[in-house]
Formats: sequence, structure tokens, C-alpha cells
Amino acid sequence: MNRKEAIAYIKKHGFKNFKPERHSYVDEDGQKWLQCKFCCEHQQVDPGVGYITCADCVIKIDMMKFPDTIKKQKKSSGRPAGWHFMNEFVDKDGNVFHKGKEQPKLKGTLPPTIVKPRKKKKKLTADQKMFKLAKQHKSKRKLRKK
Ligand SMILES: [Zn+2]
Repeated sequence: MNRKEAIAYIKKHGFKNFKPERHSYVDEDGQKWLQCKFCCEHQQVDPGVGYITCADCVIKIDMMKFPDTIKKQKKSSGRPAGWHFMNEFVDKDGNVFHKGKEQPKLKGTLPPTIVKPRKKKKKLTADQKMFKLAKQHKSKRKLRKK
């Protein structure tokens, strides 16, 4: 069954009834590994587990089942993070909020608050820095061997 057929099957019969053949094995530490039902990546599982869906695929399948809800959720949040902690926030429809509480009397009396998009800063944690350095070091060593 390829990916397309799998999606068609899940849509028709539901994910619970989707029981493809999946490979499993137990490693030298006695840890059981089972392929994800959907993407076939091996995941750690408890003994006795017959099927597993990895975290990524849980989201994918949710999106498949409820494509509308996720889109709607994204659209409805035209407000900045933490808007209900702001002393005054006016949304684009002119609704006025004081610390998250709607002020119906003030509706339409104030210009909408301009939301500045936050610049995303990429900050590495100490661990990630170490990991990055280790990786660079490793690849350098590989190059030297050649
Ligand atoms: Zn998966």
C-alpha cells in the first residue's frame, strides 16, 4: 500500500481500521521498536504494542481528519501573543479590550492596535551549541580520513 492508497483508506475506513503490515524488532537492550503505522519510521514501544503512530503523524492525521478546524484556528488568532495582558488592545474590528476584557462601550472609538511582527531570534542553548560543535568536529575528522 503506498501513501496515497493509505490516505484514501484512512479517509474511508478511519485510522483505527488502518492495519498495514509493519515491521518490528527488539534491539540488544530489549527495547522493542515498531514502525509507525503511517510513515514507517521505527519508534520505541512497550512490549505488546501492536501498532504505533509517531507524534508527527498524529498531527498529520488530525489535519487529514479535520482540515477545517486547524485552518480556522490559525485564522482566528489575528491578535498578538499576550494581547489579553495589554492594558489596551483594539482588534481590527474596533473591539476594545482592557487587559483582555472587552469594553463594548468603547467599540469603534479607537484605532486598531498595530501589531508589530516579532522578529524571531534563533538562540541556541548551551547543549545545542555543544552538539553543533561536536557535529562540525566529526565531519572535519571524516574529511581528514579521506
Ligand atoms: Zn509516523
